[in-house]
Amino acid sequence: MKNKKITHKITQGMYVLTTKDGGCMVDAVSQISAGDHPLISVAVRKDNYTNELLKRNDTFALSVLQKEIDPKIIEVFGMHSMRDYDKFAQVNTIEIEHLQIIEQALGYMICKIEDRIENDTHTLFIGRLLEADVLREGEAMSYDYYQNNKDELLKVTTETGKTAWVCTICGYVYYGEELPEGFKCPVCGVEASLFEKRKGE
Ligand code: FE
Repeated sequence: MKNKKITHKITQGMYVLTTKDGGCMVDAVSQISAGDHPLISVAVRKDNYTNELLKRNDTFALSVLQKEIDPKIIEVFGMHSMRDYDKFAQVNTIEIEHLQIIEQALGYMICKIEDRIENDTHTLFIGRLLEADVLREGEAMSYDYYQNNKDELLKVTTETGKTAWVCTICGYVYYGEELPEGFKCPVCGVEASLFEKRKGE
């Protein structure tokens, strides 16, 4: 492939998807039908804990992130797993229809899952929009903006004196001189070639 980065230009946003007991950052969200209660699709990585939750829960919420969002929200929802970390204890949320919404979001959409379509890496969840609201005015953060500014947004710091490998996609940090054979990012799933070595001075 000559340069896959052109896919960053597909106009996608930055959202926090939440469901009962968990949630994660997502970008692949589309409205795929019309009417008062349109269908909304969202792709979630299969190895993500939230994907497991969405197999047994029947509703999810999407909080729409603004450009000026506290980057901590992206860090909390994008770089950790609820398997071993309570994301909801880290950020302010409001409860709507039994789902946690990011308090700083521009607004939210609440969907009831009607279909699940599997592909090699993701499940496409298709939900019927049940409820939605605008919480404040502002510019939504695009995926492209995030990709171009994530170094400043996430400001990944590594421990001094340790060699670290930083995932250039999600900011996950692995400590060690070399990455293990066949290593993949445990958070976002990308290959070792997308990790950047830092000497830890
Ligand atoms: Fe990653």
